[in-house]
Amino acid sequence: QQVKIVTGTNSYPVYIGSGAIHLLNDFIQNAADGFTSIMMITDETVAEHHLVSFRETSGLDEFIVKTVPSGEKAKTFEVYYDCLSYALENKLDRKSLIISFGGGAVGDLAGFVAATYMRGIRFIQAPTTILAHDSAVGGKVAVNHPLGKNMIGAFHQPEAVIYDLDFLKTLPAHEVRSGFAEVIKHSLIRDENFYRWLKEEIHSLDAITDYQMLEFLTKGISIKGTFVAEDEKEKGIRAFLNFGHTLGHAIEAEAGYGKVTHGEAVAIGMLFAIGLSMDLLGLEFNIVELKLWLKKLGYKTSIPKGLERERLIQRMKQDKKSVGGTIHYVLLEKVGKPALIEIDEKTLMTYLEIFEKEVG
Ligand code: NAD
Ligand code: ZN
Repeated sequence: QQVKIVTGTNSYPVYIGSGAIHLLNDFIQNAADGFTSIMMITDETVAEHHLVSFRETSGLDEFIVKTVPSGEKAKTFEVYYDCLSYALENKLDRKSLIISFGGGAVGDLAGFVAATYMRGIRFIQAPTTILAHDSAVGGKVAVNHPLGKNMIGAFHQPEAVIYDLDFLKTLPAHEVRSGFAEVIKHSLIRDENFYRWLKEEIHSLDAITDYQMLEFLTKGISIKGTFVAEDEKEKGIRAFLNFGHTLGHAIEAEAGYGKVTHGEAVAIGMLFAIGLSMDLLGLEFNIVELKLWLKKLGYKTSIPKGLERERLIQRMKQDKKSVGGTIHYVLLEKVGKPALIEIDEKTLMTYLEIFEKEVG
């Protein structure tokens, strides 16, 4: 399957499928402007599981590999600096290529290295998580600062995304759950039929078939692509992709990163946002059904115990998307029709209280 992503600055193909990585070599050989050298950035876990088969299947042999720590630990200044040093030592030049091989963390890091090395060189995303169907497309790249996640970054679109679903087979269950929440998000903000299809089709995250995986990742990427195409630099509607994320980010940060995965926190955030939407915008929605489905798939549907409302609200106010003191919240008028609404602190506090009582 192929999806084309079109942005203001460029357009690029996303190849999705089992075995898709075999397309990489041809893509590189046929690139209009050729590459002088190639550096892969990957993490320890992905390298251990898949680097050998990457070499075999892609047919690509001449490249250097920088292996970084797995997970969020990849997105630090130190690791970023290490990658730059490695690139300089190995004499990467302005016509070199960076390949990101891993999940969203590696993708964000490698993309930021590519965006800043010699004022920007080209890069290719080879995602290995479900979550990365979201992060690999759209060109947002970043590392973390101790004072905030993704605070240091750039917009830098890849040359291509090559998404070989065979690599996903080793994903642990909680990572599958984390990524699948973003698939649900994409359906809710753009496509009611897709949402219905997901609910009917996916009954267990341990038993996703190749066909289902291909279908929902292709669809999810297409939806993400439509938002990116209309708003590359996130001035307007791209903010809708933040659905479920205002509370989601707050939960992640308060619980401590790694305690609750990104997607699991976003799932709780989406439930909260849907409740708000029903009350404030008259959204018609069967929230009980969604909650049951999420539970069946192993998601938590309430805010983890021990997180204080006041602190969650403080976090929500610190969100990059909030301007001044008021919180800009993505709600749904209908499934598939999001809206950006200003909500004041007091209202939010009241609803958080109700939300906690309802499901707690
Ligand atoms: P990740 O890269 O940390 O991967 C999660 C874990 O799974 C890691 O421990 C990793 O080593 C492991 N892993 C990866 N592929 C595997 C495989 N095939 N088999 C077994 N283990 C594997 O993170 P993620 O969940 O893919 O993405 C989260 C990151 O993405 C966050 O840093 C977030 O900020 C970022 N993100 C960016 C955007 C964007 O638009 N740029 C959007 C959403 C999220
Ligand atoms: Zn997200």
